Amino acid sequence: MRARLGNAEDLGRVSRMSEIRISEIFGPTIQGEGPLIGTPTVFVRTAGCDYRCTWCDTLYAVLPEHREGWRFMSNAAVLGEVNRLTGERPIVVTLSGGNPALQPLADLIRLGRKQGHRFALETQGSVAQPWFSQLDSLVLSPKPPSSGIAMNLSGLTECIKAAGERPSTALKIVVFDDEDFAFAGHFGAVSAAAGLSPARQSDPADRIGYARLARAAVSAGGQDARGALV
Ligand code: SF4
Repeated sequence: MRARLGNAEDLGRVSRMSEIRISEIFGPTIQGEGPLIGTPTVFVRTAGCDYRCTWCDTLYAVLPEHREGWRFMSNAAVLGEVNRLTGERPIVVTLSGGNPALQPLADLIRLGRKQGHRFALETQGSVAQPWFSQLDSLVLSPKPPSSGIAMNLSGLTECIKAAGERPSTALKIVVFDDEDFAFAGHFGAVSAAAGLSPARQSDPADRIGYARLARAAVSAGGQDARGALV
């Protein structure tokens, strides 16, 4: 059975004007995955998501029943918290969620860049925003069949177009089983045609055997951004 999508009231598109719906801000910490793995970063996790993946590990930033813990914050308040955490030093700010593409982040990125920060954003690729072109890094993470979501691939294409030339754009696909692996395989051609970083496969639950998956990934040319299989 497919997981349900979030309804319009839950999406976060109706947040107060330019204020951002925030679940949590934390760091500095080390980015543990994707093209910026190993990079010091502060995470700004926005609240609200248009998906309901079966294995989502951040439901506290997705489900409306957790909204009591969410805050509406101005751009100045978000940047103030980032600067407090870093001791006023510039850093890579990772915008995550939920789905951060549902929030009004253009001014946050513009103002933060003036303070020396760089911005990375992680999204499933369901909603494109013109301000993607102002990012330094964009990670698109289309959800495979095991998520229970019927992925909107046209949205993903729009995200790649919106990003344009400026950000380093990469695809990241979680793989739990053979069906997911076949899904990930479709994106090799997509990423090559768009000039993106190679699709990366991982198997966090080790449900189908890491070694076998790794051999399959090698055969398919799967690499991380540094050229090493992970
Ligand atoms: S898209 Fe991400 S944040 Fe949203 S439900 Fe799926 S895993 Fe959770």
